Amino acid sequence: MSKKLRTTARVDPVEVYCRIRPLPNETDESCLKILDKSNLMLQIPECSASYRTGQIKQLVYSFTQIYDEQTSQKQLFEQVSMPLVQDLLNAKNGLMFTYGVTGSGKTYSMIGNQHESGMLQRSLDCLFQSIQGNIARKNIFKPDRMNSFEIQSDCEGRLSNPAAAHSTKLTRQQQAFLNELQLSNKFQCQINRDNYYAVYISCIEIYNNYIYDLLDDVASSSTPTMSGGQDLKESKNLKEDSKGCMYIKDVNELEVKTIEEALDLISKAQKKRVVAYTELNSESSRSHSIFSIRLVQSQCSGKQCPVYVSQLSLVDLAGSERSKRTKNTGSRLREAGSINSSLMALRNCIETLRENSLNGYKKMVPYRDSKLTLLFKNYFEGNGKIKMILCINPNSVEFDETS
Ligand code: ADP
Ligand code: MG
Repeated sequence: MSKKLRTTARVDPVEVYCRIRPLPNETDESCLKILDKSNLMLQIPECSASYRTGQIKQLVYSFTQIYDEQTSQKQLFEQVSMPLVQDLLNAKNGLMFTYGVTGSGKTYSMIGNQHESGMLQRSLDCLFQSIQGNIARKNIFKPDRMNSFEIQSDCEGRLSNPAAAHSTKLTRQQQAFLNELQLSNKFQCQINRDNYYAVYISCIEIYNNYIYDLLDDVASSSTPTMSGGQDLKESKNLKEDSKGCMYIKDVNELEVKTIEEALDLISKAQKKRVVAYTELNSESSRSHSIFSIRLVQSQCSGKQCPVYVSQLSLVDLAGSERSKRTKNTGSRLREAGSINSSLMALRNCIETLRENSLNGYKKMVPYRDSKLTLLFKNYFEGNGKIKMILCINPNSVEFDETS
């Protein structure tokens, strides 16, 4: 048997984008040089350990695309995240990570700040702009609390009435945020106008390889408690359903009908994130935050009608710095070790995926090595697109960690 020659260009199984944040201070020196749209050179500054040991002189790294300091959130969304929203609407899965050392712009890119919303809110806004007019009435779909949904047999009039949609009260700050978002976003994707759609959101956090539900208090509407993660409720278990898809047992997955409802949930979840204070950055997060948007769609309203379910997960990873840099001791040090091992597991999975695609191997992707990777098992088995935004702080003093 003759082997078929591969003539098509190789498609990278994981698209890695690089986003460079502006230098924190005008007097800071950059250790980066952008060579072209996909190649970046790190220049070794004299203050770095690498310079003193004299091992490496120059390093060139390649990416799918490099985004410089001037890149706006809007641009990043349009070019990197929006295609994933279109996939979601086409019933395909997507996964996007922000990766980088603490202070490099991961959270800014994913969630943004009061002035500029991030990829998460922009994705949701674009999704709602797209399905406007085709949003299903609440509870038309019934989740099995694993990964499947079915149509309630007793439903009649399947579309939600936009005028009757219960409007969520936003705080002034949230309203300002939404106004800015909708002014700058204005993106819409293609949808199948014959379908009706429902959107579900879940927000979890993986901390020390334990899974916590950031919507626990929201769902039970008690007062959120938050003090360095100690008061978070019990951790949740990761399970596999009969089709081999992973789900988190008893996770709150809440149906949202409007962008207001979605933003409200996100800001409540955000307040619960475990923020441990380290020497690096007073807001440094030591956990992985995972925001999942699940889209359920169908064309007809009978119980036997096919229902399509797709998911877009956006993951704001913990800082990728080595633990010794934070000079932490005791439990904090154990925490840093655990962060590194799950990030290492993620790197191993991505490397194996790449090797398989490059050499035509069928090596097992080691996704069972951490909860972070096991949760995304299906993606590592080839079901869904993976993108990563590598965030970089160009400051010379960051060189050793950045490299
Ligand atoms: P990380 O989550 O990687 O620890 P942050 O996203 O919190 O880092 O960013 C650190 C600081 O830098 C924040 O104050 C953030 O607003 C700012 N920042 C990061 N990236 C950018 C950017 N591209 N443009 C403007 N400010 C940024
Ligand atoms: Mg952060």
